[in-house]
Amino acid sequence: MSLPVIQNPGEPAAHFANAIAEDPLELMDEIEALKKERNAAILSHFYTDGDLQEIADFTGDSLKLARDAASITNPVIVFCGVHFMGESAKILSPEKTVLMPDLQAGCSLAESCQPEDLARFQNELRAAGRDIQTVAYINTSAAVKSLCDWIVTSGNAREIIDRVPADKEILFVPDQHLGRYLSEVTGRKMILWPGSCMVHEVFSIQDLLRAKRNNPQAIIMAHPECPRNILEHADVIGGTEKMRRHVAAIAEPTTFLVATEANMIHPLQKIAPQHTFIPVPGIMTSTGETCACNRCPHMARNTLQKVRDALRDMQPEIVWQPFFADAQEVLRRSLLEPAKR
Ligand code: SF4
Repeated sequence: MSLPVIQNPGEPAAHFANAIAEDPLELMDEIEALKKERNAAILSHFYTDGDLQEIADFTGDSLKLARDAASITNPVIVFCGVHFMGESAKILSPEKTVLMPDLQAGCSLAESCQPEDLARFQNELRAAGRDIQTVAYINTSAAVKSLCDWIVTSGNAREIIDRVPADKEILFVPDQHLGRYLSEVTGRKMILWPGSCMVHEVFSIQDLLRAKRNNPQAIIMAHPECPRNILEHADVIGGTEKMRRHVAAIAEPTTFLVATEANMIHPLQKIAPQHTFIPVPGIMTSTGETCACNRCPHMARNTLQKVRDALRDMQPEIVWQPFFADAQEVLRRSLLEPAKR
């Protein structure tokens, strides 16, 4: 099986070189015309650039976009996000053509859990007499999903954990921070895979506390992929959809310190323009200096040019793989079927 090759996110951004060559407004017009011609729908994750969210027919988190991909009738989907999201769309809608602006857009979390390693660890646990079910965050490759019993997103995790029979041990992969947080809020003991997101891992606690000192009334919102030292200071812990709902429900102008990928400020400002949103910066651990690492380099591979090119050339495409069939069963059960009460 071929998984995306992740290049060093610190490398010169050769893949962005064309991004300044063309007029964004002209590109948007071209995309609109091609979209009609192809009868395509564009889905953009909240962590992509604001322009890509503006041209999208659907925006959202992984859960909402996976459900959108399954429910829309357009025969062609352009998925502005990262590789595992395009895979999930294809798995839930095998009959559709799923294009991605850049197949190299990977995810550090997905990379941290390779199927061979997971299968070996599951076998070791079972050989030791442990009765486990494996719960995977959606940020995993389809090959890993095919080895799991349940898939969660930050939007449905608690509900899915409740569906795991109480007499089973839970092996949670790949995000140790989300797993630890879920274990605390659900009271379920979990074996945690040692993966983490390169973006959420590096939020600077010093800068967060400094920003809070400068804005003492500010509400701190943090994604559960953040480490414990950030979550301990958060007033609101939740995925991107929960953040949007939270700010939209407050009418009074309020300042929010936001600890998640910095492009998330775009949909927050859009749904609640009365507020002020301050992104919490990341820290470069080797030098101690703050950096722009609260932006996901993989999401940044999505550009208007690449969306135009994908629609024009009808590639690159997520192609069906044999192991998608097993992943399809677990994805449908977890994301599309309601819990039996
Ligand atoms: S922000 Fe983190 S979890 Fe999300 S796609 Fe980027 S590397 Fe993966």
